[in-house]
Formats: sequence, C-alpha cells, structure tokens
Amino acid sequence: MSHGARSAFEEVNQKISQAGEILGLKPGVVSAMQKCEREVVISIPLRRGNDLEVLSGYRVQHSSARGPRKGGIRFHQEVDLDEVRALASLMTWKTALIDVPFGGAKGGVAVDASTLSDIEREEIIRRWTRSIHHVLGHQRDIPAPDMGTDARTMAWLMDEFHRLEGFQPACVTGKPVELFGAPGREEATGRGVAMIAASTLEKHDEKVKGARVAIQGFGNVGRFAALACHELGFKVIAISDVTGGVIERSGIDIHEIVNYRNISEIPSYEKISSHEVLEQKCEVLIPAALGGVINAENVDRVKAEYIVEGANQPTTADADKELRGKGTLIVPDILANAGGVMGSYFEWTQNIQQYSWPIDKFRKELDARMSKAFSDVHKESKKHSVDMRTAAFVLAVRRVSSAFALRGELV
Ligand code: NAD
Repeated sequence: MSHGARSAFEEVNQKISQAGEILGLKPGVVSAMQKCEREVVISIPLRRGNDLEVLSGYRVQHSSARGPRKGGIRFHQEVDLDEVRALASLMTWKTALIDVPFGGAKGGVAVDASTLSDIEREEIIRRWTRSIHHVLGHQRDIPAPDMGTDARTMAWLMDEFHRLEGFQPACVTGKPVELFGAPGREEATGRGVAMIAASTLEKHDEKVKGARVAIQGFGNVGRFAALACHELGFKVIAISDVTGGVIERSGIDIHEIVNYRNISEIPSYEKISSHEVLEQKCEVLIPAALGGVINAENVDRVKAEYIVEGANQPTTADADKELRGKGTLIVPDILANAGGVMGSYFEWTQNIQQYSWPIDKFRKELDARMSKAFSDVHKESKKHSVDMRTAAFVLAVRRVSSAFALRGELV
C-alpha cells in the first residue's frame, strides 16, 4: 500500500526525529536510533508444479538496545525491504512503549499467501529458517506470526530451528497451544485493540455500551477484536476482509459470523465493498488489515470519531494530519496493537521457565499492562500537549535512548 510522498520507513523515521526534537536529543543519537542494526535478504527457491519460482525473503533487526529483537514474519505480495525496515523499527518503539525487555525486528516473504498450499507454506518457512537461523534464537531474535502466517507456520519454524540448533521453544512465539504455545496468545492482539478502544471512549466520557464499531480485516487481529468488542458491549456494525464487507446498523451477530472463513460467504447482512467499511459513520473505526489504507484519496470520507489502529501503519502521515485537523482522535498502532507482542512476551517467559499460566492469569496481566500503557501515553500527550501518536513515540524514544546512554554507546 502506498504511504504517499514518503516511504513507510521514512514515515517512522520522521516520528523518531520529531520525538528526538521534543526530548532535546543530539542529532547523532536520533540518527543511530533510526538505522537498522542488521538486514538479511535471502532468496527462497520454491518448486510449484513444473516451475521453479524464486521468492525474496527478509529479516531486519532494528534494535537490541532493550533486549533480544522481536517481531513477526509476514507472507504478502507487497512485502519489500522498505516495508520490513519500517515494521522492524515500529517493533522497537512498541516493545519500549509497553516496557517489555525486547528490541525490534521484522521478517517477510514476498508471496501471495492466499495462493499457497500447506506444503508450499511449510517449505517456504523451513527455507527461511535454514537461511537465517544463525541470527535467530530466544536471546537474539524471536519471530512471531503476522499477515499471512499463523500458529502452524510458527510450529514449522520452531521444528526447523530445533533440528539446526537444538531444543529451544522460546525461539519463536505465537505457536499452537499444544506445542509450547500459551493459551490467550492467539486472541491477545485483538483483545488488546478492543480494550484500548474501550479505554479511549471512557477517557473521553463516552459510553462503550452500544458504541458503533467498524472493522477492516477478519484475520487474527480483526476477528478477535470483533469478538472482544462484542463482549465489551460495543455494537459492531460493519466488517470486511479481502473478499468484501457486510453492514448491519443494528449490530452484526459476531458469534454467527466467526464461523465463516471469508466475509463474502456470509449469507445474511447487506454487502458492501471492503474499503467502504472505512467510510461508515461510527464512533470507532478499527483498520486491522493492511498499511496505508487511510490515505489522501479516502480521508475526506472517513467519518469515525476515533480510529484505533489494529494494523501497522494503516494511516498515512498526510491523512493523519487531516484527520487531526477535523478532530478525529487516532490511537496509534504501537499502542493499539501492542497486545500481540505483550502476549508473545508472556509466552516467551513461560517457555523459558517451563511453567504454564492458566488463561485467566494471561488475560488479567494483559488487561492490566495494556491499560497501564494507555494511561502512560495519555499522560505523555497531556504533558507535551501533543497527539497520542507523537506522545507514544516520545515515551518509547526516551526509553530506548536512555538504554543506549546507560550502555555507554552513544554518549
Ligand atoms: P491475517 O493474515 O490473519 O489477516 C489479515 C486480514 O486482512 C484478512 O482478513 C484479509 O482478508 C484482510 N485483508 C487483506 N487484504 C485486504 C484488503 N485489501 N482489504 C481488506 N481486507 C484485507 O493478519 P493479521 O495477523 O490479522 O494482521 C493484520 C494487521 O495487524 C497487519 O497490519 C499486522 O502487521 C498487524 N498486527 C498483527 C499482529 C498479530 O499478532 N497477528 C500483531 C500486531 C499487529
């Protein structure tokens, strides 16, 4: 997806510069925090029928200042080095913001995941792991699922890593519960998004019960965000995926629709296009699919009062500015979708301790720590009189720069 005049990585770096200025950091320190520590680009040959396709794969390690690098791996046709750099950098700021002992990384393979058989998906992730296992590991860099990958993909990654490096279940998170995964991790991102949406309304003295929500995306994030919003009392009025969207102003029966794989298969409810979901009149809009979907082209038609960013970088910088100008409050990705990496942290610690938590403990810890992160960012925004995105970057950049300084690297 296009990010307008600037690339996705340039957009993140612009926010780091702005936070550095507010914090009075030296330009050299800002520039060190913008660069990625290591970038690995690989070729993945894949036999498909009688043909051999060669896919491009990536792992970008942005920062280890606060701990082992952490970040998902994405299978999507639009994956490229710039996008992976941007997403790796966002992970550094996200992990600092929620105060877990990780740095940032991201991986990807440029392939249309919807065209892959299970055998092909397994072959790709095993080759990706074989090519870069020397830079992975539970104290080095820990992958997790993202768009186009899931718990099964993480099980294959772990299995391949074990063959090469020996038993180390904490080398990857988002694994199946039956195979060192943590009950609660799968729903954690969506649950966190819904909780943050509720905290946002409450902070602005608005009622959660009956508040209208529109969601773009019906994968890991969108599906669980819809379920959690429903449980919290929101009314989900529209939802879409790559196959299309549905709308029902009196509220969609979420428990009915989660039984369908694709939105276009749902027989009930009026059909709308996937992008029309973004343009509905509602209290809360949750983009939970691709980046760059709220942009110069459609920003005039976005009518939500609050945008809670379930996806990474769904709002371009230009659209963000215009929305703020008309009074829309945006809760940024690095806060709104941080429940995923928070849940990954819980899974990682359980794997290392070889001790499992019951799901109630997982949910309680997640809810408490997400609500603390929300209140930290809110306080920061009041302190500097800035929007939530700028405040989130200021807080995260302060934590990472002080880790750099304490290590003695950048003084
Ligand atoms: P997923 O692959 O499980 O689901 C993606 C969803 O987006 C699917 O429903 C797909 O149909 C839909 N989609 C794809 N193209 C679309 C289009 N053009 N229009 C409308 N819908 C479209 O991915 P996910 O894990 O849910 O990730 C979604 C977003 O959330 C990504 O930006 C990802 O980086 C971010 N995120 C994911 C996690 C996580 O734990 N999975 C954590 C933090 C952030």
